[in-house]
Amino acid sequence: MKIAVFPGSFDPITLGHYDIVERAVPLFDKIIIAIGKNSQKKYMFSLEQRKEFIRKTFEKFPNVEVDDFEGLTIDYCKSKDVNFILRGLRNPADFEFEKSIAQTNRALTRDNTIETIFLLTSSGKSYISSSIVREIISYGGNYEIMVPDAVRAIKE
Ligand code: ADP
Repeated sequence: MKIAVFPGSFDPITLGHYDIVERAVPLFDKIIIAIGKNSQKKYMFSLEQRKEFIRKTFEKFPNVEVDDFEGLTIDYCKSKDVNFILRGLRNPADFEFEKSIAQTNRALTRDNTIETIFLLTSSGKSYISSSIVREIISYGGNYEIMVPDAVRAIKE
């Protein structure tokens, strides 16, 4: 089975993340959206809220699952017998950051069995980020245009 882990904070999931997952669905048998838990980080949404947003967003996708993990992404991948890490690229800054992580992950997996697969953001989605969404929410602005329905519902 070709399984990909899409790791991230997803605080909250955005239409940028959605676009990457939707386009990766035909490429893999299963995609696990895995929320990395970092005890040093402050989140706007609890782990359960973030998982629920993702669950609802992909309820019509039988091959998309949500999970959480602590520690290194590659260790999580190994525990799940996963060979692919999925990441999105928005801009040169993402590229530089992602390059060092992907190369580190490759160096750490001595048998080189885990490959990182990158999808380029769709035009019109590259400006979207969870941090911008959080900023807009905190000032009461119109964040709805950047998130899936499940996240829009928090306002109601
Ligand atoms: P992290 O905390 O690991 O940066 P994020 O939840 O912010 O986690 O992002 C997870 C992944 O989604 C990253 O690969 C990021 O580049 C990608 N991503 C986020 N927003 C977009 C977007 N608008 N278009 C394409 N990829 C995106």
